[in-house]
Amino acid sequence: MRAWMFHAPGDLRLEEVEPGRPGPGEVAVEIRAAATCGTDLKSYRRGHPTLFPSLPARFGHEFAGVVTEVGEGVTTFAPGQRVVAANTCPCGSCWACTIGRESLCENLQYLNGAFAEQIVIPKAIVERNTYQIPDTLAFEAAAPLEPLSTVVHGMAESGIALGDTVVVNGTGPIGQMYIRLAQLRGASVIAADMSPGRLAQAEQAGAVAVVDLTGLESVADKAAAIKAATPHGRGADVAIEAVGLPEVWEQTVQCLRPGGTAVLFGGPKAGSTFNVDAVAMHYLEYKLVGVYHHAPRYVQIAVNLLSTGKFDGMTLCSEVRGLEALIDSLEDMSRGVGSKYILQP
Ligand SMILES: [Zn+2]
Ligand SMILES: [Zn+2]
Repeated sequence: MRAWMFHAPGDLRLEEVEPGRPGPGEVAVEIRAAATCGTDLKSYRRGHPTLFPSLPARFGHEFAGVVTEVGEGVTTFAPGQRVVAANTCPCGSCWACTIGRESLCENLQYLNGAFAEQIVIPKAIVERNTYQIPDTLAFEAAAPLEPLSTVVHGMAESGIALGDTVVVNGTGPIGQMYIRLAQLRGASVIAADMSPGRLAQAEQAGAVAVVDLTGLESVADKAAAIKAATPHGRGADVAIEAVGLPEVWEQTVQCLRPGGTAVLFGGPKAGSTFNVDAVAMHYLEYKLVGVYHHAPRYVQIAVNLLSTGKFDGMTLCSEVRGLEALIDSLEDMSRGVGSKYILQP
């Protein structure tokens, strides 16, 4: 079968490899759709500290497909079923898992290899983070389960309530998911970005206002422009950071109303720091929340949102392409041509 193999930063090759056979507790899946992700682009360029234990390594982590074979002892899945799986599973027994903070698990087990014709899902992920999907849900729409699960996690931490004004800073795929999920919770969403194309998508997704930050230099000016779009210019009840740049983290805090909550979601580069006005933090009682990764309960909610059509995964897809188009798609993402490509083996 064909599989993309990561040899080194900048060196990805589509190779002919032996398909895996499922061991005890494992499930083999024929991949029907795999989605590119910002993490793939970063890993392709710079490598990744934890994703590739040895090289060359399988690549990609967002996929949906059909079960072809189950290992000994598997009773919950059978050949022919349509499934989707998360890219990790927490161990369930470390201190973090024990206190219900599974996204901080010390022994997260990763699954890579979505950009291929077949994948074998390890036992722990079969048991806790793999789901059958209905025939009405397209593989292409189900593939981006991982990012949707992380956004569901962010929603859980956000405290967004009926009638809130939510500002989403950054309207790439993650921002677009926040825009839709915040509305499901009954919030009015204002989207801020510098790309007219992405802002048009935000409007389509139901944002009540969009703020084009093009030409504004300072963080203070950008935050002021965003605040001006909120009711009475007071600021956001909840502001989301969905970019991963320290200056946008600062912008996110600065566009809050007194007592507002900032969800700092985008992953910044190693060594990044950001500044918060300590006086404002104190007198205006800001709440700053860091959010990373997902947990089985959020994955379950994400599967439910996809399966019921409450969230349409296809809205994230820039284009459906063949498996061989991986490198072109990553390059197109880095040039801003598209933000998420679905590859079909
Ligand atoms: Zn991803
Ligand atoms: Zn754990």
